[in-house]
Amino acid sequence: MRYLLAALNAKYIHSNLGIYSLKAYAQKRHPSVEILLGEYTINHQPGDILADIYRKKPDFLGFSCYIWNVETVRRLARDVKKILPDTAVWLGGPEVSYDAGQVLKELPGISGVMTGEGEETFSRLAGWYEAGGGEAELSHIPGLVFRAESGEIVSTGPAPLMDLDDIPFPYGGLEGLEHRIIYYESSRGCPFSCSYCLSSIDKTVRFRSLELVKAELLFFLERRVPQVKFVDRTFNCRKSHAMAIWSFISEHDNGVTNFHFEISADLLDGEMLALIGKMRPGLIQLEIGVQTTNPETLSAIRRRTDLDRLRDAVAQLKRFHNTHRHLDLIAGLPFEDMESFMRSFDDVYRMEPDELQLGFLKVLKGSHMEQMAGEYGISYGSEPPYEVLSTRWLDYGRFSG
Ligand code: SF4
Repeated sequence: MRYLLAALNAKYIHSNLGIYSLKAYAQKRHPSVEILLGEYTINHQPGDILADIYRKKPDFLGFSCYIWNVETVRRLARDVKKILPDTAVWLGGPEVSYDAGQVLKELPGISGVMTGEGEETFSRLAGWYEAGGGEAELSHIPGLVFRAESGEIVSTGPAPLMDLDDIPFPYGGLEGLEHRIIYYESSRGCPFSCSYCLSSIDKTVRFRSLELVKAELLFFLERRVPQVKFVDRTFNCRKSHAMAIWSFISEHDNGVTNFHFEISADLLDGEMLALIGKMRPGLIQLEIGVQTTNPETLSAIRRRTDLDRLRDAVAQLKRFHNTHRHLDLIAGLPFEDMESFMRSFDDVYRMEPDELQLGFLKVLKGSHMEQMAGEYGISYGSEPPYEVLSTRWLDYGRFSG
């Protein structure tokens, strides 16, 4: 069988680490299986993507679904079945993991949904197709929701959480990626519980061994790739891990590659800051989520931010003049009326970030915020990206005008 894992990225310069990891892991288990990757962007015409899929003629087509691409993926999933009726179409990714049964009802042509972390699930599913297994065997693969021959929708339970060291390095060849942002994962999961975030759900953080991480970073450094973006949800949640990686990239700096990290600035202590202070200007850039400075809001969204420590750390970073600081704020959070929001904005503005990004609350399926939306009077768009329309504290006019 020929397998095609397809991703629709937001921009050409992005790449989808998920499908690279799925392929690397499945090929470790099934070395002779042919797995192709299809990377497109949401700016491609759906007809062009469809034509490319048709040319590749996969027996199995897996789409990776996120809020920014799921509408187009749904359309493609329907149309693929019209031109390649024998192709098994499966969906996976966060945007279909939490209401997979509903997705199957809306897309009767697809075979099923892979929920949660996909490496082991996809690998076992490919093994099942290769063996020509029956429905009974399929129901023993965790992480699937599929339609049984009887028409019943079957869920096989949660997918296993992966040991990151079991996933092979996904960028062996690197062909075609040299000029794109390389996404890299040295940890998965987040120990924190922010109510609007899906990374808070399992609360189990796993780390890739430093020995592997260092060898892989050296691979990028030797090839002088322009940027490596860590997808780790809170990179510095384990100090020893963060310090080891930051020390390594400082010692092996090639003068070109930039590394991007999402961090909690209030977890930066003197030792971490001293290390950053000695780095080449441009070696790293930091994305720091502040989101709000209203204590009542922070408590409602379950963020335990020490604002004084965060402010001090951001000020210290500014004094180094070597690290681009990107700060995030979210509008539409509970207990944040106009006055409170303007205070949060002013507080963050006074931190003098190099970049301030203002986002609107997105009420993601499966998040705690989704459960609390009624209580907070939060209404939000019915279609992705599920952005806030009004809250008990801000009416729609504030968001629209
Ligand atoms: S918003 Fe960031 S810190 Fe909070 S749970 Fe998500 S990844 Fe973790």
